[in-house]
Amino acid sequence: MNKEPIVIIENLDHYYGKGNLRKQILFNINLILKAGEVVILKGPSGSGKTTLLTLMGGLRSPQMGSLKVLGKELVGTQKQVLVKTRRNIGYIFQAHNLLDCLTARQNVQMSLELHNGFSSAELKQKSTEMLEAVGLGDYVNYYPKNLSGGQKQRVAIARALVSHPKMVLADEPTASLDSKSGYDVVSLMQKLAKEKECTILIVTHDNRILDVADRIIELEDGHLVT
Ligand code: ADP
Ligand code: MG
Repeated sequence: MNKEPIVIIENLDHYYGKGNLRKQILFNINLILKAGEVVILKGPSGSGKTTLLTLMGGLRSPQMGSLKVLGKELVGTQKQVLVKTRRNIGYIFQAHNLLDCLTARQNVQMSLELHNGFSSAELKQKSTEMLEAVGLGDYVNYYPKNLSGGQKQRVAIARALVSHPKMVLADEPTASLDSKSGYDVVSLMQKLAKEKECTILIVTHDNRILDVADRIIELEDGHLVT
């Protein structure tokens, strides 16, 4: 089997600001993410982790170098290509970003509704099954305000994974959790990713979760160090 890498980054630089305020944030990044790999990206605050993650996720336009995601070059591409790329990626952020007015199932279902072709019964079933997979089968009709931090983050994982994305990008997913729930959440992500051959990139400076990774990479002042 000859699997093409999910992400190929070559000589990627990134700058914020214009004129006198222009500041280089990422320096000559070279990185490959393979299918089904769980990679942890660590590094001090301000080292450029979120910037790199948002570039890989098509959430920000890359400026120079080469960044290929799922076979598409994103440097110099149109907005439409970025938007299309995003549909194949699941996102998990530090704050779970659930909608308070929707139940756990409705939050998960919302991300499926962006993909056409499911009947409403199928949407409901798939969302419920995904919540069962993250251990929240008894909570499908709960609103976020009645769930614990760890439970909310598990709903966010279900939402990110329900459409079977090729890649999940998680930015400090354990930052608001105690160490036990943090570890549980991340090992659950890893287990589901392995089952579904999904590539996962987890940004963290939580040393307690490093052992879920196949590989650990590190940013320091915008440089990838190994
Ligand atoms: P990390 O996630 O590792 O903490 P970031 O990628 O968020 O790092 O930030 C890297 C650097 O870029 C920091 O110095 C930050 O202040 C700066 N930065 C982040 N976002 C912006 C932005 N939208 N405009 C200008 N500077 C930014
Ligand atoms: Mg960050």
